[in-house]
Amino acid sequence: MRRAEFFSLCAILPAAILSPWSITSASAQTGADTARRHRPLLLVPEAVWDGTSNAPRAGWVVLVKGSRIDTLGLAGDISPPADAQRIELPGTTLIPGLIEGHSHLFLHPYNEASWDDQVLREPIGQRMARAVESARTTLRAGITTERDLGTEGALDFDVQLKRAIDQHVVAGPRLITVTRAIVATGSYGPRRTDYSFDPGQGAEEASGAEEIARVVRRQIAYGADWIKVYADYRWGPQGEARPTFSQNELNVLVETARGSGRPVAAHATTPEGMRRAVLAGVETIEHGDEGTRDVFRLMRSRGVALCPTIAAAESYAQYFEGWVRASEPPPKSVVDKRASFRLALDEGVTICFGGDVGVFTHGDNVRELESMVAAGMKPLDALRSATSVNARIFHLNDRGRIARGLLADLVAVEGDPTGNISALRKVRLVLKGGQPVR
Ligand SMILES: [Zn+2]
Repeated sequence: MRRAEFFSLCAILPAAILSPWSITSASAQTGADTARRHRPLLLVPEAVWDGTSNAPRAGWVVLVKGSRIDTLGLAGDISPPADAQRIELPGTTLIPGLIEGHSHLFLHPYNEASWDDQVLREPIGQRMARAVESARTTLRAGITTERDLGTEGALDFDVQLKRAIDQHVVAGPRLITVTRAIVATGSYGPRRTDYSFDPGQGAEEASGAEEIARVVRRQIAYGADWIKVYADYRWGPQGEARPTFSQNELNVLVETARGSGRPVAAHATTPEGMRRAVLAGVETIEHGDEGTRDVFRLMRSRGVALCPTIAAAESYAQYFEGWVRASEPPPKSVVDKRASFRLALDEGVTICFGGDVGVFTHGDNVRELESMVAAGMKPLDALRSATSVNARIFHLNDRGRIARGLLADLVAVEGDPTGNISALRKVRLVLKGGQPVR
């Protein structure tokens, strides 16, 4: 069992803990802890990448006051307050905290336990305990915001986890929740034909406009920030993916959610499922495996973003097809997945960073960014997806960039991630709301 570690609620870390970086006081005032709590921080990395620009800026520093970014610029142009605490981060690039677009904190990798077993056999207390641990691991990997797209049978425990994080009871990213997700009756899993009893479902079933509106409203009442719908699923006669809800049902779902100010994310892999979801007004399409040029053009024209989840597709190939990740060529499923992603890129679809993490290990979120780059996206664009672009897609105008007045959600990584995306794996410091994460 891992040693329990605790999140720093309000105390700035003692210098010894942040070693090997030296923290020195900009003034002679190194008073009591109470005095240090709200001291401004002057972050001195090798360079700063602000979430949008074409290259990191060498020699820049960032001043943090309280939970917000106060100012940034060349070291010589910034005059920090006398009591500012200076944090030296040599060899690092300071970037905005990463925003994961598609996670399942209540799932763990399917090579540890099958999805069915997780949904049906794991007691909910155990699932919550895992989710708490996964949230902490995620934050420490530099993910400071995460859209969690369904508890997969764990009711509205995502909302409870979010509250515990916001109340500083446990550590984790700022969460966007959907509670249970919505599926057409009979379309999802665990499959009833596989059991001698009626198995509980991994999402909430609904059919018909009236029931769909009621379920959307019920999920809102239980704390959903977004609504997640499955516009298609593998319920065809041969187990192939087929559309689930009718156009009218999807229209009602989106209209009901939107009326309350909540956007909709749609799981969709088939061209018809994607098309219906886009026409209904969803804001992100999850997966999009079989997306055609026409569907991607429609997405672009309607401003709908794609969360490609390439890392999940690669994980399935590892678990179920015996693919060894480092070995090329990959199986057809992965080749096809990369090709459809490139098609979306070609058509100028906005790309959301979202890996479907939970299918693979929490904290390994960067795997999706590496897969995006391996499939043909420029590291700089992948990094934009994970910061400023996801902030825009998720309507979060207080984060995703390093700019005056925004939340001080910041990550220092070794090297230059705009050139080498895997530099994101070498996290040296994470700040969430101006507080160092331990
Ligand atoms: Zn998912």
